[in-house]
Amino acid sequence: MNKRSFEDFGLSQETLKSLFKLRYEKPTEVQYSVIPEVLKGRDVIVKSQTGSGKTAAFAIPICEKLELEQKNPQVLVLTPTRELAVQVKEDFSHIGRFKRIRCAAVFGKQPIDIQKRELKQRVHVVVGTPGRTSDHIDKKNLILDDIKYLVLDEADKMLDMGFIDQVEAIVKLLPKDRVTMLFSATMPQEIEEICRKYMINPEKIELQAKNPTVEKIAQWYHEVEDSRKFSVLKTIIYTEKPESCILFCNTREKVQELLSEMKREGFYCAALHGGMEQNKRLETVQGFKHGEFHFLIATDVAARGLHIDDVSHVINYEVPMENESYVHRIGRTGRAGKEGTAITLSTKRELRFLHEIEEYIQHSIQEKDIPTDKEVAEGKEAFERSIKSKPKAKPDKAERLNREITKIRINSGKKSKMRPGDILGAITSIEGVSADDIGIIDVQDTCSYVEVFGKAGEVVARKLPTINIKGKLQTVKKVRIRNF
Ligand code: AMP
Repeated sequence: MNKRSFEDFGLSQETLKSLFKLRYEKPTEVQYSVIPEVLKGRDVIVKSQTGSGKTAAFAIPICEKLELEQKNPQVLVLTPTRELAVQVKEDFSHIGRFKRIRCAAVFGKQPIDIQKRELKQRVHVVVGTPGRTSDHIDKKNLILDDIKYLVLDEADKMLDMGFIDQVEAIVKLLPKDRVTMLFSATMPQEIEEICRKYMINPEKIELQAKNPTVEKIAQWYHEVEDSRKFSVLKTIIYTEKPESCILFCNTREKVQELLSEMKREGFYCAALHGGMEQNKRLETVQGFKHGEFHFLIATDVAARGLHIDDVSHVINYEVPMENESYVHRIGRTGRAGKEGTAITLSTKRELRFLHEIEEYIQHSIQEKDIPTDKEVAEGKEAFERSIKSKPKAKPDKAERLNREITKIRINSGKKSKMRPGDILGAITSIEGVSADDIGIIDVQDTCSYVEVFGKAGEVVARKLPTINIKGKLQTVKKVRIRNF
């Protein structure tokens, strides 16, 4: 790891402040390589895994380069899944918060009109899945004329999921004068082809050919018959005492079955699979991130690309059918330089797949004995005292950022001809408050929101109800900042 700091890139004070609040102390390797290239305006092809800090690697330099006054979107990020789209949007918004950068996420299974309304406002960054992004382009909700940055995130996953033609069709519509960034864990032929066709003299950045994650994570397996899996799982839980754990199953049905068993035993847990409604999935991920429950029981598809920090354990309740899934699964732990543990429960029949996985990752996974009754009894007592009690909510990473910001709702919007300038004018008429204190102003149909930075927030919240906006006093109140 390098000893460089974010200051070395000559970033703005606003961006440095966001990074500080997010506790990004120094650049990760991928950030160290990518940020200067993008700041120079070069195309980049980056071979890296999730968990390497790649989202910030593209979001930081892009935030520095955006023109705030520009009305049409300047950045398009395409991602394979809805969850990833939401997470990238969140990360981008956090990094660009003090620069007043606005981001929107567009993805299927959410009413298109809600997204249309968002796109109609000034948004600088649009993050979307290929299908829904195409829909918005066709309906002219998304104007591509001023796109200057294109990011293809997890390109290999988009290929696997059959989105590559849609991606290519979108790329063809974009202005040629742009910076293109492609991030992918692997570089299959089709992805190389996309790079060759749509990128100009790209800088190729490859981070450690070997899979560093796999080596950093303690891995072992237990051979166990299917009928005994749940009781063995409990012995693992009592001896390992995971603080936060993802349990992987191969099918939705298995997820549901394990969820019922876990709940019956009184564990705090929730399920995540593709059959769940979109909002429920997002809520679940958010709840897990905030530490509302210890165990997330998931299928591969639902968990791909999740940015969840501090997962202490991954348990494969079933051996994955694809080698790559194993790498993705265990990559949920041991993130951002932390230690992680990955345990696999394998039946005799599944051992064949596990050996294939070992060959694929070029790392041998040792078998361990099932914990003894004595170990379990000792661990169980401690676990029940600390862990089985209701988990304490973990503060969200963005919370430190949000504490710096006061969000205020004004009960009047476009229908009353409210414009951002009216709100800006009223706020800056307050003594001691300047335009620099004001963040994103969001005028919706019947109400408006404004973010105010630092100490000015309280002053504005107190004084604004006494000031005429559009010729009259408005109902004004502070609201909670939601991250999605
Ligand atoms: P990603 O590879 O984008 O999935 O990022 C993995 C995780 O690392 C995210 O949850 C980020 O919040 C976190 N992260 C990214 N950059 C840094 C950094 N420089 N320092 C600490 N954490 C980081």
